[in-house]
Amino acid sequence: MKRTLIMAALFATVSGFAQEKTQCNATTKANIQCKTTEWNDSGLCWRHNPDYVKKSSNPTVICSGKTKANAACKQKTSHPSGACFHHRPKN
Ligand SMILES: [Zn+2]
Ligand SMILES: [Zn+2]
Repeated sequence: MKRTLIMAALFATVSGFAQEKTQCNATTKANIQCKTTEWNDSGLCWRHNPDYVKKSSNPTVICSGKTKANAACKQKTSHPSGACFHHRPKN
């Protein structure tokens, strides 16, 4: 009984983590759910999201963020926010 409870708690933790990466909602040609992870919290992967191409064609710029030492970040990014992976908001 106790063991079941522990397993349930463990499973809840694992599935909580899994929620950060949601599977794409689109359906493939074979009529099965796309197995690719969703892109940019859109519910669709980069392949199925029509916005993906648009955003990836953004010009590459130097990140507008600052490092911990208050120096300008030198990372290049093509993200629409103009900030690199480290400096853009996570959501
Ligand atoms: Zn997909
Ligand atoms: Zn940066």
